[in-house]
Amino acid sequence: MLPPAAIINDGNVVFDSEHHIEHSNSVIKSTSKSSVLHRSLRSDPLRVVQASGNYIELSNGQRILDATGGAAVACLGHGNKRVKQAIVQQMNEVSYCHSLFFASSAAELLAEELISSTNGHMARAFIVSSGSEAMEAAMKLARQYYTELSPPQLQRTKFIARKESYHGTTLGALSMSGHVGRRALFEPTLLHNISRVAACNAYRGKRPDERDDQYVARLAQELDGEFRRVGPDTVCAFVAEPVVGAALGCVPPVPGYFAAMRAVCDKYGALLILDEVMCGMGRTGTLHAWQSPLIGVAPDIQTIGKGLGGGYTPVAGVLANHRVVDALRRNSGAFSHGQTYQGHPIACRAAFEVQRCIREDGLVANVGRMGALMERLLRERLEVHPHVGDIRGKGLFWGIEFVRDKRSKQPFDPKEGVAMSIHELGMQRPYNISLYPGSGSADGTSGDHILLAPAFNVSESDVELIVDLTARVIGDFFDKKG
Ligand code: PLP
Repeated sequence: MLPPAAIINDGNVVFDSEHHIEHSNSVIKSTSKSSVLHRSLRSDPLRVVQASGNYIELSNGQRILDATGGAAVACLGHGNKRVKQAIVQQMNEVSYCHSLFFASSAAELLAEELISSTNGHMARAFIVSSGSEAMEAAMKLARQYYTELSPPQLQRTKFIARKESYHGTTLGALSMSGHVGRRALFEPTLLHNISRVAACNAYRGKRPDERDDQYVARLAQELDGEFRRVGPDTVCAFVAEPVVGAALGCVPPVPGYFAAMRAVCDKYGALLILDEVMCGMGRTGTLHAWQSPLIGVAPDIQTIGKGLGGGYTPVAGVLANHRVVDALRRNSGAFSHGQTYQGHPIACRAAFEVQRCIREDGLVANVGRMGALMERLLRERLEVHPHVGDIRGKGLFWGIEFVRDKRSKQPFDPKEGVAMSIHELGMQRPYNISLYPGSGSADGTSGDHILLAPAFNVSESDVELIVDLTARVIGDFFDKKG
């Protein structure tokens, strides 16, 4: 059996079998043959041997600039000492306890930190291990809320989500997602109580002669129509990402959009669920994306993930407001949903430390400053490129959408794999940069894009380097493509 060192071995902190800490440079080596069920069974991914700050070192000697923190996860960069120490300390105190019988201080601290960051809007936090699990919990919480009302609204079993969206990989969360490519194989097994309206996408959805307020009014009308079509008193919630992540590539709404959607939800008594798994926890320049004036409305239920734990542990969460929590408290007195690893002490302690670093080091403000610089440099370098259709984003969350033809906005055929090829070129020498790819949809409603989401503590020179390398990769890719 491997010693516990295998669990956290980062090359310098290991546990011995007596559970005290030893410092060592020993690294447990694995063989070169893979036993992991990787996304591809034909080729193994590049092997990472070390990661620190903004850089990931590979077994082939390359040092990759991590411009995306994975999928907008590593908000503190890699190898943060404070977080490492907090994890070790938590392991020495309590590594696991079952949430049905016990509460850990780590879970309580994290929940308190999260709730106090919401200006009194949210009442309770439910901590799980992934964004998909958070979405599942949010859906069940919304459903349960209507069963707790007096009289219960048992007919509320449906959800309205958006066409251009991704909410997770488990069947419920995937059912909520509109992402055609990710749904396709599983379509027959997905939930059928979810319908969709268009997302707010100024680049592709707004008509050339339309003002923002007219576009918003049209989208509100579409949502209103969808409520009426499916039966207004059968809908639990409208579900949306404040800034669309993987499905579109960092697309913020136009001003007034969420206020208008909230008004439609309120008209029909439905909840508003905001999925901030990717765009939340500081990524877009406010701790919660809904706290930005651009979004401007608080949800009833919110999901968070990725930047919550910065990649140090698998951790995500659901925040519920007073309306929802009070209904449960007054009636059944419990959320009817439990998981073995919910509120996991180590996951919670790591996330708490990540959030403390963000708060104490003023990193959300740095996201705003560095985000403004990133936007300016991206526009200077790439706006004129004939295959760059749109540059959009918020905070340190930027997407670049590619088009075959700039004037008509015609996207590349997703089968060409433009975004993935750009990612692959970036990973090669001499660029050595990780860019997050997203493919467009076959129906032409979205194009291939790449996404930039560096750590919140990047400096001006880091941003300059990221933009410079990104521009060179994109320029060289299209020069070669012809
Ligand atoms: N929601 C959004 C907006 C996401 O971007 C993702 C993942 O990319 C998820 C939910 C699912 O999160 P996870 O991959 O942690 O299950």
